[in-house]
Amino acid sequence: MNDTETAVAVVGAGPAGLVAAARLGEAGADVTVLEREDAAGGRVRSRTVDGFTIDRGFQVLFDSYPAARAELDLEALDLRAFAPGAVICRPGSRSTLADPFRDPGAALEAAFSREITLGDKLRTLRLKRELLHGSESKAGTLGDVRSGSANGADESIRSFLRDRGFSEAYLDRFVAPFYGGITLDRSLSTSARVFVETFRAMSDGRTVVPAAGMGAITRQLADRARDAGCTIRLETAVEGLTVEESATGDTNARAEGVRLRLADGSETVADAAVVAASPPEARRLTDVESIPTDGVGCVTQWYTLPPGRSLGIGPRILLNAGDERPNTVAPLGAVAPEYAPDGRTLLAATFVDDDAFDRDDATLAAETERALASWFPERSLDGLRTLATDRTPFAQFAQPPGFRETLPDPTAPAGPVVLAGEYTRWSSIQGALASGRRASEIVLESVA
Ligand SMILES: Cc1cc2nc3c(=O)[nH]c(=O)nc-3n(C[C@H](O)[C@H](O)[C@H](O)COP(=O)(O)OP(=O)(O)OC[C@H]3O[C@@H](n4cnc5c(N)ncnc54)[C@H](O)[C@@H]3O)c2cc1C
Repeated sequence: MNDTETAVAVVGAGPAGLVAAARLGEAGADVTVLEREDAAGGRVRSRTVDGFTIDRGFQVLFDSYPAARAELDLEALDLRAFAPGAVICRPGSRSTLADPFRDPGAALEAAFSREITLGDKLRTLRLKRELLHGSESKAGTLGDVRSGSANGADESIRSFLRDRGFSEAYLDRFVAPFYGGITLDRSLSTSARVFVETFRAMSDGRTVVPAAGMGAITRQLADRARDAGCTIRLETAVEGLTVEESATGDTNARAEGVRLRLADGSETVADAAVVAASPPEARRLTDVESIPTDGVGCVTQWYTLPPGRSLGIGPRILLNAGDERPNTVAPLGAVAPEYAPDGRTLLAATFVDDDAFDRDDATLAAETERALASWFPERSLDGLRTLATDRTPFAQFAQPPGFRETLPDPTAPAGPVVLAGEYTRWSSIQGALASGRRASEIVLESVA
């Protein structure tokens, strides 16, 4: 960095903006993060309700994500892991689908799973080998969505798996609720690239949450940014930005700068700006038309059972193979006991159908109660109490086949303005963290 510190404004304190800020601060820039909400974290935040930790919608981290390993102190996050596999549920029946190599204890149960045929299990193992080791394989041509090096024809998750011989029963009973939960699209029309990345990540590592909630991830990043000297201004929405010559007043250098108009009517100037706002806001601020603005959403409802009651299935996600109300139920208290007061159960049910936004909280809770009662006829689950409901219309940007080719380059805006955010790569914490790093590199290269 120069003798005169370069002033950088970062718009948005989600995971992408925080990584960009931390890296720029660590390189010696004078960084101010402008965040419109009352806390940093963006879509990755947690709160406490009646002593329970409630994330901003049900979310998980894959600890094999390269950017998570590079940007986070995973050990300090005190991670709690889901058991591999899932429990496939329908009225009157539950069937555990486990990964026999990663969870030997569940291997026998898995071998006798009534829901999934041996042929589909063998195809899953073959796919795992193909995706983890077979760069020459057909799957390899889908490329790496993380680096943006995707090449070859993309297709939907459904047609990708059909091409590999998986049965319709496997797609409907397991893949639709499981990947429907990850992509928030139970029709499986999302790009197979997202499937490939997440399948690889799950095969390579664990599915985890920090003991203190997903918000611990962005709290750690915010602390890192502050330790690097960054200022994080909360409740400071950016209304607009303009690129102009010598915004910082250094007329001799004739450099371009950025003037940012804030919601309270004031202005701030910087030598460069990183726009790490959510996609619709990033598009509004920069006029870059390739920033995706179609979103997919979900509703997560959080419950507890009366003291002493639990589902008794351990830290494994429940998939609704019967219908989509709800799509999944995650026993978060069993995964991370710290999420709940002593001895209490914490469940997160996620609805991904479009109509979920039109149903009121009581209707959604009744649907979950009905589903659980039909899946666990042997248990008394009366007294399910709703703790919170998170309605998130724009949880991820839509990722249809071929989406990667349409995304904006981080340098697309005019002047010294760089884009950061999942929407420059793919919708995930991995995409967000990696984009923040890339944006910081671009700013530092331009200064050098
Ligand atoms: C319910 C749900 C479930 C998810 N599940 C997973 C999962 O399991 N695993 C996974 O990897 N990913 C998951 N995701 C996606 C992941 O959370 C996002 O991809 C990631 O958080 C995006 O980070 P970001 O920094 O790009 O954007 P954001 O987190 O959206 O951050 C953008 C920030 O910009 C701020 N901002 C916007 N406009 C302005 C403005 N004008 N001025 C100032 N500030 C502004 C916002 O307030 C926000 O803080 C999920 C998301 C949701 C909502």
